[in-house]
Amino acid sequence: MNGRAENFKSVFIYSDELANFEYSPTHPFKPIRAKLTLELCRRYDLMERPWIRLVNPEPLDFAVMKEFHDEGYLKILQALNSGTLDGKHWPDLLSGRKGDFLTVDPEILKYGLGTEDNPIFSGVYDYAALTAGATFLGAKMIASGEVQVAFNPLGGFHHAGRAYAEGFCYVNDVAVAITHLLKEGWRVAFVDIDAHHGNGVQEAFYQENRVLVISFHESGRDLYPWSGFENEIGEGKGRGFTVNVPLPQNTDDEAFVRAFEEIGPPLLDAFAADIVVVELGADTHISDPLTHLSMTNFGYCQVVKKLVGVAPRVLALGGGGYDVYKTARSWTLAWGILNDLEPRDEYVGVVGGMMFGPEIEVGSLHDKTVYMMGNTKERINREVDRVVSYIKQNVFPIHRIK
Ligand SMILES: [Zn+2]
Repeated sequence: MNGRAENFKSVFIYSDELANFEYSPTHPFKPIRAKLTLELCRRYDLMERPWIRLVNPEPLDFAVMKEFHDEGYLKILQALNSGTLDGKHWPDLLSGRKGDFLTVDPEILKYGLGTEDNPIFSGVYDYAALTAGATFLGAKMIASGEVQVAFNPLGGFHHAGRAYAEGFCYVNDVAVAITHLLKEGWRVAFVDIDAHHGNGVQEAFYQENRVLVISFHESGRDLYPWSGFENEIGEGKGRGFTVNVPLPQNTDDEAFVRAFEEIGPPLLDAFAADIVVVELGADTHISDPLTHLSMTNFGYCQVVKKLVGVAPRVLALGGGGYDVYKTARSWTLAWGILNDLEPRDEYVGVVGGMMFGPEIEVGSLHDKTVYMMGNTKERINREVDRVVSYIKQNVFPIHRIK
């Protein structure tokens, strides 16, 4: 493969400064995945092309984040940027508190800050502003026509609310970027294939018909954020413009891809977005420690290919992924698909070359697929069929899809 059509341009948005942030040594969200992804993209010969640019993001202005976020919340986050509260360092506030509780200031807890999921670390505001700036830069470059595809692996903080942090997310870069694109008159679809329901983005646009939000995720019966059921379809003029596809535990490649094909392309065709924002969370992988789906990057790639096929312009965001190496592999494959390039191992056969995790399969990033069997497969199929037919009955007619 030789890349996409003539005049095609893409951007990989990355900075070491961003990738080197750490929530805490034991926190499962590891920004360093972005660095590993870029290294892997280089190793697999997916960067050195005339149409590909590697660009450094800038922190997003307070004023732009305020277009979506509550000003008071942003100010609190800014005040905590030192990583201290009342002169005490955050780790000191937490240390010595093992077990079931933390000591948290109620003033910041009401904003979801200072929890185990959303700790206060030195530079927390800078980090959040930089992740939002990276996504915003991608949106801007697409909107200006500079590129058709932008990828920010450290984006997709889909759980953050207008005035609170949640689920490892402080600033909702997705909602901030989409809010701005709407102001400029763009028609935007957001497709989320992260294993977790994108509750923050859903809430942001629940009554909006200029944004189509589709989330495929592990069912809220079994996984945080305990929402995203098929009957959550938007309200008022937004009715039918929020679509949730909850999936049962152990959903495999075949079932996920089937659910995606039945729901994604017909809705995206009918809605005809100018820009499709995609959240390519890799935590659907069978090896992910936080979730209970059974996908591999085989199914993941099929979905990404289909998404790219129906989207004129793509703003791709990393989202979750807690098996660090598997996530870097999935995102590298996604970057290849976004650029219509097949990864090629530049180091194949090099003894003592760059190893990539203990599980590397030399020469290929591709997993073999996993296919569930017996009662488990029957249970998955029944549930996927039920959800798909619910959406076809209740959402498709709103978009005049037969
Ligand atoms: Zn996730």
